[in-house]
Amino acid sequence: MRVLVGGGTGFVGKALGQLLRSRGHEVTCVSRRQGPDRISWDELSSFGLPPCDAAVNLAGENVLNPLRRWDEAFRKVVVASRVETTKTLAKAIAEAEQPPRVWVLITGVGYYRPSPTAEYTEESPGGDFDFLSRLVSAWEAVAKIPGDVTRQVVVRSGVVLGKDGGAISQMLWPFRLGLGGPVSTGQQPFPWIHVRDAAGLICHVLETEGISGVLNGVSPTSPATSNADFARELGLALGRPALLPLPSWVVQGILGAERAVMLLEGQRVLPTRTLASGYHFMYPDLPSALKEIVS
Ligand code: NDP
Repeated sequence: MRVLVGGGTGFVGKALGQLLRSRGHEVTCVSRRQGPDRISWDELSSFGLPPCDAAVNLAGENVLNPLRRWDEAFRKVVVASRVETTKTLAKAIAEAEQPPRVWVLITGVGYYRPSPTAEYTEESPGGDFDFLSRLVSAWEAVAKIPGDVTRQVVVRSGVVLGKDGGAISQMLWPFRLGLGGPVSTGQQPFPWIHVRDAAGLICHVLETEGISGVLNGVSPTSPATSNADFARELGLALGRPALLPLPSWVVQGILGAERAVMLLEGQRVLPTRTLASGYHFMYPDLPSALKEIVS
């Protein structure tokens, strides 16, 4: 299968590319940077979709970049890097003479309202209560293409955990020094997925006819995982104490209140349709996921 991956040069994209190639598929990335097996977003807009059997979009500016102030300019970049790239790919798919068989977009569980108790499946409402939830709604809306020639799938991902990037790369050094701990009270749910499962799930969706609609990209034990559980398990995996809480005012000071919500609150998300689709998680529980990451 020839797979076109927007943002395929990033953290999830690298894991996905590796997996797809190992399964005999060809991968071309859409990227802002030149390189082998890449096309640019301008080329995609100007010349249309290159011949492909599947398209995926993983492009998006890192929302939690602590070096970027959470101001109007950065908010615009965060939105445009997701909505405009998705719109460009969806338009190219809709206008293609030979459209791909499947089109997959990765968004986030920020669609569901944070709550310490509510549990959310793919059927649950959301997408209309804060900046992040409205971003997910706008992102998913522009991905829709008319007709049913192309299977359309949205994976709403939790925090992606892996060795080579994502949120954990910023957490590892304080934890390694024994300075880690829960964020705030630690009672907030911590929806997560291992990067190999994020890639594995996308690959499963691409290869399995009949899957369409929304799938929650979180591990099956994720609904029972709190931020404090995550901190404790990461400390155990590293053989370090993880008892020093990170106060909420520090997180808000660094990230800004709107963005800090992503760490200070969380959702209990169930991968109901994901499991029903036949996907088997490689890392269903946190100890096995973290053992692989710190090894
Ligand atoms: P990365 O931060 O690794 O970024 C993926 C790619 O997006 C980059 O390699 C880059 O490609 C492209 N990109 C970055 N900034 C911009 C920009 N301003 N404009 C256009 N393209 C840009 O993302 P991940 O791999 O971690 O995540 C993939 C997708 O999954 C993202 O959309 C993310 O929002 C979503 N997601 C990720 C989660 C996580 O924990 N990682 C959790 C939930 C959702 P290039 O430089 O080649 O153009």
